Amino acid sequence: MRKLFSALSLLAIGSLFATNEEATRPNIIIIMCDDLGYADVGFNGSSDIRTPHLDKLAEEGIHCTSGYVPHPFCGPSRMGMMTGRYPHSFGTPFNLPAASRGYKKYNKLGIPTNEVLLSKMLQNNGYYTGLVGKWHLGVTPDYHPNVRGFDDFYGFLGGGHSYFPKVYQAKYNAAKARGTKKIFDYLLPLEHNGEQVQETEYLTDGLSREACRFIKEASQKEDPFFLFLAYNAPHSPLEAKEEDKAQFLNITDENRRTIAGMIFAVDRGVGRIVDTLEKTKKADNTLIVFLSDNGGKVEYGSNNHPLRGSKGDTLEGGYRVPFFFHWPAGFSQARKYPHPVSSLDFYPTFAALAGGEIPADKKLAGKNLLPFLESGKNARPGEMIYTLRHRMSKGDRSHHQVGGRRDQWKSYYDLDGWKLYNVQIDPGEKNNLAEKHPKILQQLVTEMSEWAQTHSTPQWFDDPAQEKRWHDQELPFYDKTFTLEPTHPQ
Ligand code: CA
Repeated sequence: MRKLFSALSLLAIGSLFATNEEATRPNIIIIMCDDLGYADVGFNGSSDIRTPHLDKLAEEGIHCTSGYVPHPFCGPSRMGMMTGRYPHSFGTPFNLPAASRGYKKYNKLGIPTNEVLLSKMLQNNGYYTGLVGKWHLGVTPDYHPNVRGFDDFYGFLGGGHSYFPKVYQAKYNAAKARGTKKIFDYLLPLEHNGEQVQETEYLTDGLSREACRFIKEASQKEDPFFLFLAYNAPHSPLEAKEEDKAQFLNITDENRRTIAGMIFAVDRGVGRIVDTLEKTKKADNTLIVFLSDNGGKVEYGSNNHPLRGSKGDTLEGGYRVPFFFHWPAGFSQARKYPHPVSSLDFYPTFAALAGGEIPADKKLAGKNLLPFLESGKNARPGEMIYTLRHRMSKGDRSHHQVGGRRDQWKSYYDLDGWKLYNVQIDPGEKNNLAEKHPKILQQLVTEMSEWAQTHSTPQWFDDPAQEKRWHDQELPFYDKTFTLEPTHPQ
C-alpha cells in the first residue's frame, strides 16, 4: 500500500503539497452517529451489538480510546465541531428548539454567520463538499447548509427525524389535511438542496444511499471531496427494521434490541460506503473519521461501559465517544491512541490536510492531530479538554455540570461539589482523589474558571421561560461553581 505521507512529511504537510507532485490531498469523510454509546460498537467492547464494518476500519486505523466531543448533547457538540471552537464562546450552549414549537425569536437564529465553518473552510480551499443527514444548526435561508459551505445537501434541518417514510409521510399528510401550521420537525419531508424529496427507504439506508451517490459524483471531479455523513441513528424515535432487530434475538431488553438494529443499519451503510470508495478507487487516499455527537442515552438502551453517566452528563459517559481515524495512504501503521483528542481538533487537522488557510480572526480550540496520530505521542500534554452544561431549574437549583480532562486527570463538578479522578486507570470515575491530590484539583478548577471567562451569553434557550430564568437567577454565576469552597445550596 502506498504511503504518501511519512511522519516527517505530515509535520510539514503544507510544503509537501508544494514540492511533491505525487502527493494529492486526501478526501475527507466524517461519519457521525447520534447518541451512540461508548460500548455500542464492537471495537469498543460491545459483546451484543455487532458492527463488523466499523470494527474493521477501527482495527486498520487509529482507534482513539479517549475521543471527546465539546458538549454532551447534539446541537452544541456539532456547533463546536463545525466551528472548531467551544460552543459557549459564541453563545450556543443550548440546542436550537424544534421549529415546530413556534418560538419565532429563536427560529430566526442559527450558528452565527461570522463563524467560518469547517465545510466553508474546505470549500474555500477547493474541496467539493457534501452533507448527508442531520443539520440542526439553523433552519432559515441564512443558516442553510448550502450557504454554510456545503455544495450538496441531502437530509433534514432539524434535530432529528422519524425513520419509516410511509409512517412519517402519512402523519405529515394527515397534519397538513387538518390544517396544522406547525408540523413536528421529525415528520417533515427530507430535502435535497432546498427541494423537498419523497424518500422511500428507511432513513439510515436512504442516507447511506445518498452518501454513496455523493461519493460517486465527487469522484468524477478533479478536486478532492469532503463529506459529512450525519446519521440520525440511534437517536430516538427508537425505530428499527424488523429484519435488523431479528439479528439480535439474544438481546432481551426491547430498547437495546431496537438500537442494536438501528446501529446494525449504520454499520451496513458504512460497508456500502467502503465498497463505493473501493469501486471509485478512492479508498486509499480518503480519511474517514468516525464518532458520535455525544454519549449514549442509557435509559434508551445504550451502553457506555466502562464509562459512567449518560447523554447530557459531564461524566465521561456523556461526552467521551467511539472515535477513530482511517486513512490507508496517510498513516504508516494502525494503532490504539489513548491520549485525549476532540472533535474540536478536526478544524485545524483538516486545514492542514487541505493545505489551507485558517481565517485570520479564527481562534481555534483544537490541535492539528496529524503528527501525533502518526507518532502515537500525546497531542496536548498538560493541556485541558473542557465541557460544561447548564442545568436550569426553578427556584435555586440551577447549576452547572463541568468536566475537565488534562492528561490522566479528570475534574468533575455537579451539585455535590468537585471530584477528581484518574481516568487512565479509573475510566468509570469511581475513586474520588480530591482529598488525596487537592493541589492538582485546584489547578484544574482554576484553569477551567479562566476558560469560563471566555463564554458569552447564550443566543437562544430551550424556551422563553428558560431564558427568563437565566436572567432572573443571574446566571451563569460561575463564581459559585469554580471554587472548592462548598458555597452552592445543597
Ligand atoms: Ca446527539
